Amino acid sequence: MSEAFDFLQQASLITAHDEGNAFDAVVPPIVQTSLFTFSDYDEMVATYRGEKVRPVYSRGLNPTVRIFEEMLAKLEGAEDALGFGSGMATISSTVLSFVSPGDRIVAVRHVYPDAFRFFETMLKRMRVDVTYVDGRDEDAVAKALPGAKLIYLESPTSWVMDAHDVGALAALARQHGVLSVIDNSWASPVFQKPLSLGVDLVLHSASKYLGGHSDVVAGVVAGPKALIDKIRNETLPYLGGKLSPFDAWLLIRGMRTLPIRMKAHEASALEIAHRLQALDVVDKVCHPALANTLPPGLYGTSGLFSFIFKPGINIRAFCDHLQLFKLGVSWGGHESLIVPGDVVANQKAPPSFAEAFGVDPLSVRLHIGLEGTEALWSDLQEAIAVAKEG
Ligand SMILES: *Cc1c(COP(=O)(O)O)cnc(C)c1O
Repeated sequence: MSEAFDFLQQASLITAHDEGNAFDAVVPPIVQTSLFTFSDYDEMVATYRGEKVRPVYSRGLNPTVRIFEEMLAKLEGAEDALGFGSGMATISSTVLSFVSPGDRIVAVRHVYPDAFRFFETMLKRMRVDVTYVDGRDEDAVAKALPGAKLIYLESPTSWVMDAHDVGALAALARQHGVLSVIDNSWASPVFQKPLSLGVDLVLHSASKYLGGHSDVVAGVVAGPKALIDKIRNETLPYLGGKLSPFDAWLLIRGMRTLPIRMKAHEASALEIAHRLQALDVVDKVCHPALANTLPPGLYGTSGLFSFIFKPGINIRAFCDHLQLFKLGVSWGGHESLIVPGDVVANQKAPPSFAEAFGVDPLSVRLHIGLEGTEALWSDLQEAIAVAKEG
C-alpha cells in the first residue's frame, strides 16, 4: 500500500450531517417531493430569473440528492457532482453532453458491456465513431487521440481486470486537447481518485460499492463545475435520468461505511485470489494485484476479479454446488456472487460483444462479499472438488 493513501482520512471526508437543518437530525431526511412551493410571486420571479437558487422541481435540484452529490464530490476531490438514476444514465448523459454528429471518441477495450452497446448503437446512429484501444498500450492510445473529442476510460476493466496507468492516459488526452472520462466503479474513490491523476470527469455506477447494499440502482459523475454544469443544464434535464431522493438517501447511508467495506472486500478477495492461483485446476487469476504491481494512482483493490479454469472442469457443477456464492450479475454489496464466463460469452447478443468484453468461456467472475474469507474459501473448495469429478 502506498504511503500516499491515508485510509482514515478517507473516512473523515464522509459527513452527511446537514447542520442547522431538519431538527439537526444526524441522518438527513428524505425530501420525497416532486415540487417545492414559493412563498410569493416575487420569489418565483427571482428564481426563474436565476437571481435566487433554490429547489423548484426534483428533476432539477432536490436537497437529499444534493447532500449525496456533495458527499461524493468531496470524496473524489471534485468541485461538483451530479447524481443519476443509474450508472448507464450517467454514462450516456455525460458522453452525449460532449459529442456531436461527425465526432469521434476513443474508448479503452473491455469496457462495461452496456457502455460498449451504447457506443455501438446510439452513438453510431448519431454518426459518432468509436475507436477501441488497449489502454495498456500507450503508443496505441497516443495514435488514436488526434482529432478525437473524448476518451472513455475504465480501469481496471470489470471482467479481465486490465489495469491502466490512468495518469499517463489523462496526460496524453490533455496533450491532444481530448476530454477524458473514467468509470471508477471498481476501485471506488477510496482506492483511486482519477481527478487527482488529471482525468477531467469521473463517473460511477453507484449501484455497486457506493451504495454497497445491493438495494439501489444509481449513478454519479464528478468533476470541475464548468463541465458538471454543462451536463446539468444541457443534457440531464432533457434525458431526465435524475436520481430519486430515496435512492440518494440509501446512497448516503451506504457511503458512511464505504472505506471500511472496501478494506474488507480487498483483504478477503486478495487472500482468495492468492489461494486460487495456487490450485492445479486454475490456469490464471485475473486480479490487478496478482498481474503485476498496481499502476500509479491505484491504492488498493476491490472484491471483484475473475479466474480461468484449466480445461476439464465442469463449470455448471461448480456453480450449482456453491452455497454462499450466488449466481447473479452486479456486485458491490454484502453478498458474494459468481458469473460464469461461458454464459456471458454465449448469450443472445451481437457477436462482436463477447470479443469486445474479452470473456474467456473457461473463466468465472467472482465478487467477494463480506461473509468472511474462510467460509467463502470452504465454499469454493467444496464446489471445485465436485466440479473436478465431472
Ligand atoms: C454496473 C456497471 C455500470 C452500469 O451501472 P448501472 O447502475 O447498472 O446502470 C457501469 N460500469 C460498470 C463498471 C458497472 O459495473
